Amino acid sequence: MKDRIKKLIENADVVLVGVGEEFDDERCLKQISQYNKIREKLEATGQDWLIPSLNRYFADKCEDSYRKKHALSNLAELMKDKNYFVVSIATNDYVWDVGFKEGRVVAPCGGSLKKQCRNGGSCTEAPVLLTEEEKAHIVKYMEDPQEVLSFGDCPTCGSNRILNNIYTEKYDERGYLDQWKKYTKWLQGTLNKKLCILELGVGMQCPSVIRFPFEKIGYFNQKADFIRVNKNLYQLTEELKEKGISISENAVDWLASM
Ligand SMILES: [Zn+2]
Repeated sequence: MKDRIKKLIENADVVLVGVGEEFDDERCLKQISQYNKIREKLEATGQDWLIPSLNRYFADKCEDSYRKKHALSNLAELMKDKNYFVVSIATNDYVWDVGFKEGRVVAPCGGSLKKQCRNGGSCTEAPVLLTEEEKAHIVKYMEDPQEVLSFGDCPTCGSNRILNNIYTEKYDERGYLDQWKKYTKWLQGTLNKKLCILELGVGMQCPSVIRFPFEKIGYFNQKADFIRVNKNLYQLTEELKEKGISISENAVDWLASM
C-alpha cells in the first residue's frame, strides 16, 4: 500500500495535504500533571490563548511530539520535487519547522508565533510576528505563570495584545488570511491537473477547513486521487468510494514509517 501511495504522489502534478487532529499532542500532554495544573490556571485567568504555547513548552516531554515532527519531515522529503500546498489545523506550529517549501503552508487556526490586538478583527491593527524576546518571555512564563501575560498595548486602540490563535475570544483571522488567499488561488489552478489529495489524521474538530472541502475538491477534480488516513474516522463518502483510498491507521504512525 505504501509503495502505491508513493507512486500516486510521484505521478501527480499537484499534491494537496491536510494535517489534522492526530498531529496534536493533547492526548499525551493531558497525562502530565504539571501541564494540567498550568492549563487550569490559564483557563481560569482567561488566558486560553496561551494554550498553544503551553503545549509547545511541554511537548518535549511527549516522545510522541518527536514522532510527529519526524512524520511531517518525511512528508516534506517525499514531496520535495512536487508542487504542493499544506493546510494544517494543528496549533503546535510543527508545520513551520519540518522543511516544507516556503509559502506552501497555511495554518488557519493560528499558533504561538503571532500576536494580535485583544479586540481582534474590530481593531485596524493586524496580527504581527512575536519578537525573539517575546518568545523567550513566554518560555520563562511557563516555568512559573504568576500574573497575566500580555505583549504590550495595541498601538491603535490601546487594548493589550495576546496570541493569535483560535483559543482567543476574538480570533483575528488576518493572521493567516494572506496565506489563505495564496492557497485558494493555488487551488483554482489544480482543477484540470492530476491532483493527489492526502488527508492526514483530520477529524471532525473543524471539518469546514479541511475535511469537507477536500472531499468536494476530490469529487469535482476528475483526475484526483483521494487518500484518507485516520485511525477512527477513515470512512469515505459514497461519492469518493470509487477514486478514494481509505487507510484506518493513525496518520502519524503511517507517515513515520513511509
Ligand atoms: Zn487594537
